[in-house]
Amino acid sequence: QKREWAKLKNEPTKSADGVNVELVANIGTPEDVSGVISNGGEGVGLYRTEFLYMGKSQLPTEEEQFNAYKSVLEQLGEKPVVVRTLDIGGDKELDYLDLPKELNPFLGFRAIRLCLERDDIFRVQLRALLRASVHGNLKIMFPMIATLEEFRQAKAILMEEKDRLISEGHSMSDSIEIGIMVEIPSTAVAAPQFAKEVDFFSIGTNDLIQYTMAADRMNERVSYLYQPYHPAILNLVHHVIEAAHAEGKWAGMCGEMAGDSIAIPILLGLGLDEFSMSATSILPARTQIRDLSKAELVGYKDKLLSMSTADEVEQFIREKTNQ
Ligand code: PEP
Ligand code: MG
Repeated sequence: QKREWAKLKNEPTKSADGVNVELVANIGTPEDVSGVISNGGEGVGLYRTEFLYMGKSQLPTEEEQFNAYKSVLEQLGEKPVVVRTLDIGGDKELDYLDLPKELNPFLGFRAIRLCLERDDIFRVQLRALLRASVHGNLKIMFPMIATLEEFRQAKAILMEEKDRLISEGHSMSDSIEIGIMVEIPSTAVAAPQFAKEVDFFSIGTNDLIQYTMAADRMNERVSYLYQPYHPAILNLVHHVIEAAHAEGKWAGMCGEMAGDSIAIPILLGLGLDEFSMSATSILPARTQIRDLSKAELVGYKDKLLSMSTADEVEQFIREKTNQ
């Protein structure tokens, strides 16, 4: 089977009826890029930059960050690289920031919330990203966006730093797409409004499922409620994709769900454009997609979206795709 997969390393990802989708990888460090390339990834759909900030005693400098971003972009050449700005808090802590303990860290002061308040930290990262943008195909993505105001504020800070860098004589790409992660239910519901202002969506199902089902993604006792195939999740995902397409934007997914063999046919039928997963899932996913007819899956869409339970969805897909 490995040999079958390897043949597809440099092939585009096409469904049996000839529709293209993009299969990209989630990475955490520049060292992960070689695995993306050797596994046939078409780019990076989620670069989790937290690792630059973790396991050390102080914030990473602009230069340190610039070097990491430049390395990732250069290794990938023309291929797209979606870099997520700092998503700290929740399950990821930084000792040196000395943030007060919270009762509900997953609902607390994290990610973009922290970056907008501590814009001194945020600006350093944005400057490093903007400077690195000349070295490849950079897209910037903000995590945990809950309101349009947050997105506008984050984008305004990015533009301020861009102007400042230009006045300092730096050059940068002028075609950087700016998108958001959709991992908060309100943002999924309000996707039509967001779609007018963002360049793309990437659906973060790891968090979107936990917030929609009110089930902590780390808590074993409630893990039975963590249901990627729940019709409520599928309806939210579909709503986000439709909202993006209505404004001529693209919609991807970078949660674990994007690499799941039951979810892939569902997502293809819902119209997802980009699937971001661990590098080792890319060739199996490409192999699977080449045997799926998108038109057939689109035909199941209304039926799937109106099903009553996750089990019903799973049974139906297993049957239709022989899994
Ligand atoms: C997600 O929430 O789906 C996601 C990709 O981000 P993380 O797993 O880093 O929270
Ligand atoms: Mg998340």
